[in-house]
Amino acid sequence: MLSSLSITDAHRKLKKKEISAEELVQSCIDRIEKIDSSINAVVFRNFDSALKEAKKIDSSGIFDHPLTGIPYLTKDNFCEAGVPTTACSRILQDPVYIPPFDCTTTKRLKNVGAISIGKSNTDEFTMGSSTETSCFGPTSTPWDTTRVAGGSSGGSAAGVASDECLFGLGTDTGSSIRLPASFCGCTGLKVTYGRTSRYGVMSMASSLDTIGPLAKNVEDIAIILRTIAGHDPYDATTGNIPVPDYPKHLTGVIKGMKIGLPREYFIDGLHTDIEQATKDAAKTFEKLGATIIDISLPHTEYALPTYYIICPSEVSSNMARYDGVRFGHSIKTPKHLIDYYERVRSEGFGDEIKRRIIIGTYLLSAGYFEAYYRKAQKVRTLITNDFDEAFKTVDVIIAPTSPNPPFGIGAHQNDPVAMYLEDILLTPQNLAGIPAISIPSGFSKKNLPIGLQIMGPHWEEGRMLNAGYAFQQATDWHTRKPPL
Ligand code: GLN
Repeated sequence: MLSSLSITDAHRKLKKKEISAEELVQSCIDRIEKIDSSINAVVFRNFDSALKEAKKIDSSGIFDHPLTGIPYLTKDNFCEAGVPTTACSRILQDPVYIPPFDCTTTKRLKNVGAISIGKSNTDEFTMGSSTETSCFGPTSTPWDTTRVAGGSSGGSAAGVASDECLFGLGTDTGSSIRLPASFCGCTGLKVTYGRTSRYGVMSMASSLDTIGPLAKNVEDIAIILRTIAGHDPYDATTGNIPVPDYPKHLTGVIKGMKIGLPREYFIDGLHTDIEQATKDAAKTFEKLGATIIDISLPHTEYALPTYYIICPSEVSSNMARYDGVRFGHSIKTPKHLIDYYERVRSEGFGDEIKRRIIIGTYLLSAGYFEAYYRKAQKVRTLITNDFDEAFKTVDVIIAPTSPNPPFGIGAHQNDPVAMYLEDILLTPQNLAGIPAISIPSGFSKKNLPIGLQIMGPHWEEGRMLNAGYAFQQATDWHTRKPPL
């Protein structure tokens, strides 16, 4: 099956004309048609346009860039010109929102001839950890379709892991690339805040949102990152610093590397199979010549509560633009303007969005702003300082990605806090703005995938990717395929 190729292998074959871009795209389409009804990863199929693009590329015959002719899935909150883009929310359906422009990431991928074959499922406006808040219903992990794919980029993660595409795009505000990568058994990168442009991607919490890839291995991630990273005049928060040639960082040599193992990440309730897989990963790194160093990140326990103050505050402000006037859902015969807004937003938004708008509006109101939002920003600085301190003595940090393997669909339905706790090891990196990657590092006794998180200092994606690459050279977890 061509759709199971890595980007590197597919590129080699395309260049040698052993396969065509059209065959590669067709193979992804066939796979989606065959299995997507059991995982629900793809919410919009853009197959005709993808095939047309592939034929155009084949007739040019030029495959100089490693992403030329490579099919991928785009998370449903990335604006693509002429393609329905709804963040899996009812508020952007009926009439469906069709952006008149491309987000920067799409534009950069189009420029090199990568082919978007469709939109992938996400929690509504990326709020969630399981893809269950999507108006299109949940995505399952291809390892056990009664369990969630993780979220919010569950569609892209499940799509990559089940070979519906060669890579996927996601966003990570507090877990949303790394958690689904670990639940589906693929590799997912959260970049340094500002490394990739947020322009044209629907915002959730603007000071935490990052754009990144999900792929079959670290090598592919390096290729995608080199293409999509870098300063963007349309996003003032992107860093105006050079983008390294990431694939060149992948030497696989990590002899002498100092790797921190933070005590605070071995929390009560950490699943024993995950604890074991993390310890085994540390041993693998040692065998490769790295030194494992016990470190402390003392403010870790405050990350989740801090996140759940800053995130809903920013959400409440970002969601204000969905008023049913300029785009998306509207209602007939309103009594007056306020009635119009109320009904559009009550009908259009799901429960999780409403919960965050209410909490966020409360937190930002006069009197509470100082007590909550400002205080949370101060704690955020302490969390950032923890990492800065740690990176004075270690090169990268490793930890489990999630405390549990994928849980059953509906398991946290009536307990939002239990859902929030799934991100307990994943929000500190967004608060600090540092990069982190989740890579497959084993399986639970029930044959469910386990992820290992590698974190690096700001802007040091290259170093972190090399550690992940070395690990993938020494292990085969990332090559295992789900039973689907
Ligand atoms: N699960 C987290 C939340 O719901 C993070 C979501 C994300 O990263 N987009 O806020």
